[in-house]
Amino acid sequence: MKNQEKGIHAFFTKFSTDEKCRAYLEHQRWGNIVHCPFCFKPDKIYKFRNNKTYKCGLCKLNFSVVKGTIFERSHIPLTKWFIAIYLFASHKKGISSHQIAKDIDITQANAWFMLQRIRYAMNHCEDFRKVMSGVIEVDETYIGGKNKNRHWDKKVPNSQGRSLADKSVVFGILTRGGGILTYNPKQLPKVGLQALIRSRVAPGSIVNTDEFLVYKGLHNYFEHGVVQHGKSQYCIGDYHTNSIEGFWSWVKRSIFGIYHNVSKKHLMRYCREISFRYNQRSKGNEEIFDDNLLLCFDCRLMYKELIASPKRLQ
Ligand SMILES: [Zn+2]
Repeated sequence: MKNQEKGIHAFFTKFSTDEKCRAYLEHQRWGNIVHCPFCFKPDKIYKFRNNKTYKCGLCKLNFSVVKGTIFERSHIPLTKWFIAIYLFASHKKGISSHQIAKDIDITQANAWFMLQRIRYAMNHCEDFRKVMSGVIEVDETYIGGKNKNRHWDKKVPNSQGRSLADKSVVFGILTRGGGILTYNPKQLPKVGLQALIRSRVAPGSIVNTDEFLVYKGLHNYFEHGVVQHGKSQYCIGDYHTNSIEGFWSWVKRSIFGIYHNVSKKHLMRYCREISFRYNQRSKGNEEIFDDNLLLCFDCRLMYKELIASPKRLQ
């Protein structure tokens, strides 16, 4: 969004009507040449008089710019979608569905579903498939399940430390000074985890981890810096995992501070959202909005898929 004035006032002025939002979507999606979303060809496209609908002369199908996007078949106007995406992108630690519902005057259930759709788009960001290089920090964190907060008859036995009895594990690969990738490796099997590291980290990189056994053997593939957290050792020269530890504390503050409680089923979506935000941290709100909008094309989340097990997101 190339605009002189920035901030929320400029945003509201620029996208004050559905027509303006639609025109912006068309520009961002197609540029100056409309492409059919069915056959992907730009030939023989006709525009209807309503200025919204197009027809492809090759496959004889009608479509509009929202076809195949997260906005398709939504009864919520584009103006409200745009504001939701802007607020979602500009809040450093995220925004709750309760807050969005109040801000744009929709029900909390609708707001929750909108945010899950935006999250779903973020989850499909290509960044999560890229290869990292340089100084890398690899670490895992355990989210949820504190016995001290539970009623006496709901306490889970043997759930301390790295036990997965009542916690979810999230695994991260971070480039120092750069971005982060987060994954849910279910139970951290040694072979699977190391294969993931090798597929996401370029040869010649320096990999920093703690002394957890699953990282043993990484020195065969990379320069491997190990810090013994069990011995209160947090830094040996340039070997440390402080950046990724900082990221985990950001994740926990976002989850417990903004969302309060996140079910195991949806945890990875929230983690990917927070990773996406972390990776965009040096950009302005307008640029982040544009990036988010681009992700909203080509993936649409149906309610049935949302409430089902989110296997595709792992
Ligand atoms: Zn077509």
